[in-house]
Amino acid sequence: MKNKKYLFTVILTCFISAVSMAQVKSSPSWEKHIPADKVIEWRRYIHQNPELSFKEVNTSEYVAGILKGFGNIEVVRPTSTSVVGILRGAKKGKAVAFRADMDALPVQEETGLPFSSIVTGVSHACGHDAHTSVLLGAAATLSKLQKELAGTVYFIFQHAEEVDPGGAREIIKSGVLKDVEAFFGVHVFSNYPSGYVGILPNGAASTIADFFYITVQGKGTHGSMPHLGIDPIVTGSEIVTTLQTIVSRNVTPGEMAVISVGQFNAGDAPNVIPDKVEITGTVRTINEPTRQLVAERVKTVVDNIAKANGATCKLNYVFSYRPIQNDIALNKFARESVAKVLGNDCVFDAPRMTASEDFAYYSDIAPECFLILGVGPGVANHNPGFNIDESALVNGVKAEVQIILDYLSK
Ligand code: MN
Repeated sequence: MKNKKYLFTVILTCFISAVSMAQVKSSPSWEKHIPADKVIEWRRYIHQNPELSFKEVNTSEYVAGILKGFGNIEVVRPTSTSVVGILRGAKKGKAVAFRADMDALPVQEETGLPFSSIVTGVSHACGHDAHTSVLLGAAATLSKLQKELAGTVYFIFQHAEEVDPGGAREIIKSGVLKDVEAFFGVHVFSNYPSGYVGILPNGAASTIADFFYITVQGKGTHGSMPHLGIDPIVTGSEIVTTLQTIVSRNVTPGEMAVISVGQFNAGDAPNVIPDKVEITGTVRTINEPTRQLVAERVKTVVDNIAKANGATCKLNYVFSYRPIQNDIALNKFARESVAKVLGNDCVFDAPRMTASEDFAYYSDIAPECFLILGVGPGVANHNPGFNIDESALVNGVKAEVQIILDYLSK
């Protein structure tokens, strides 16, 4: 229902912007260099042979081999399963990077595609196969323009986006990207129409997803003799209730913060007070001060309520990826660039991603900008039936090439 409403808004927005701005897309001379058939062939090969995070041995070899085949791209391996292709233009200039992630998910594919995953329990249910093939397509196209290029292009084929601590920080640590002045990345989503490019909000473009795991240790006893034990269910319930006051009483009104308890496991019988309770939950925020405030408050609430009830508590608070920070200037620049090559009617304003992404960390080096490529409609990313409309891939290549060319000629 939500998706339908959003799709309508997208189409309406596209229509209004098409009418009001009436920018007609240009057909750039480099379009003929896009290896459209190869992009689909690469995507299908990667799709059929998925590898989990940090285990992208075959995928990275495959990508490195294709990049070497273009002839003028230097191929670097910052880690054992990541690849960076460096294309140096004939003239000196800026340095820009585009990133694709290559890892698959522990999801059993149920798409019924003829090129379905041949690996049991592993599939490209988040579309990273599409990211990789689109960026290979952009690299192929730009390698043909080397003589006209001023500056350097880094094609980042990143490993392990899906699993904390992620691959981005490892590649950054290798130093290979230290000269890059702007980072771009794109993610496919099946809840947006095929071939449309979404511009995410300025600032936090994805949320922070942190997690907590609480064990309340009490002392089991007969349900009729509570005074002989320490009831972890009462303590745990107080904790859950008081956690609700963090957003309402501690976080600055208007700041985005969500705390949700997803599991509360305890007990086996109606007349037994159990020994312990296990509680897990997630916290969503979009900035570091609020994130730290919530983490601090969760700890205080858990420790002190347990203490007040004579129970003991163990809290494991797991910090996951920080939010992507879409640079205002790069966001505006990307919007104009994509509209130039695909037309205004293919560009829409996307709401902040509720997913988290380790693309965030490239901003340690230079400003970053993350975009969305619609490949739907279809079932959600991470679903066993997730698939993409392959006709969207060429739009992805065009958007990437245009952004890179425009950035280098800025
Ligand atoms: Mn993903």
